[in-house]
Amino acid sequence: MSSLHEPLQFTPAVAAARVTLVGAGPGDPELLTVKAARALRAARLVLYDHLVGEEVLELLPKSAERIYVGKECGRHTFSQEAIIELMVCLARAGRPVLRLKGGDPFIFGRGGEEAQALAAHGIPFEVIPGISAAQGAAACAGIPLTHRDHAASLVFVTGHLRAQAGGDDDSRCVDLDWPMLARPNQTLVIYMGVATLPLICAQLIAHGLSPDTPAAVVERASLPGQRCVTATVQTLPTLALLHGVKAPALIMIGGVVGLREQLKAVTAQAALSA
Ligand code: SAH
Repeated sequence: MSSLHEPLQFTPAVAAARVTLVGAGPGDPELLTVKAARALRAARLVLYDHLVGEEVLELLPKSAERIYVGKECGRHTFSQEAIIELMVCLARAGRPVLRLKGGDPFIFGRGGEEAQALAAHGIPFEVIPGISAAQGAAACAGIPLTHRDHAASLVFVTGHLRAQAGGDDDSRCVDLDWPMLARPNQTLVIYMGVATLPLICAQLIAHGLSPDTPAAVVERASLPGQRCVTATVQTLPTLALLHGVKAPALIMIGGVVGLREQLKAVTAQAALSA
């Protein structure tokens, strides 16, 4: 045991590899967790994705080194493998890496793959969760994700096109469990589904979902210029096209979307008086 009179012993600082996977939320910096905001303010080296809001990046110290590794629809600056390799190399060189991802790192952001790679390389990492686009969009649009009268379950899916086994680009499809998704009394939230919206709605109707089921698309939730288009599962594809809805946008389908009419006026009032 050391006595109070002994000089304190300092071990020389050895750079330790370390990565923090941080959820940047849907865009509005006010929606960051306190822990994420603190990590951002202390960051020295940041690898960030396409969907990280500009205002979130403004929280970084001026001195922080920023590397954009974004993947915009069809245009990849870095492949996922290259992002992982870069992150591992930097961490191994003793650089404390802050890996900043839109929404929550473990929801459709390939954060799971990044965590697996770090674990495989024995690099310690921490995950700071973020508000996912579904929660951000629900709050902004006035659409509760669950409700005792309308939705006992909540399903998050990706509407991304996937190549079929052994197929070429033309045989790509949205490979989802349609009978499960078409069940009543649930809320369906579709990430990355703008391009495939007509296909998704047609499949849901073909598998028994009522064409009158309320449906919405929420564009740029929590960001300047956020928009919400409401319709039914049958009419949403045409309306989204008419309104020129673009990514990032989230599709929400189910009885809960019908509550927006009642809630939105008061939600707007609250936002205005805030
Ligand atoms: N990890 C993220 C999702 C990444 S996938 C999360 O938890 O939110 C990217 C998709 O998320 C986009 O194509 C879009 O469907 C959705 N998204 C992200 N930010 C959004 C926003 N501000 N408004 C609407 N949808 C958003």
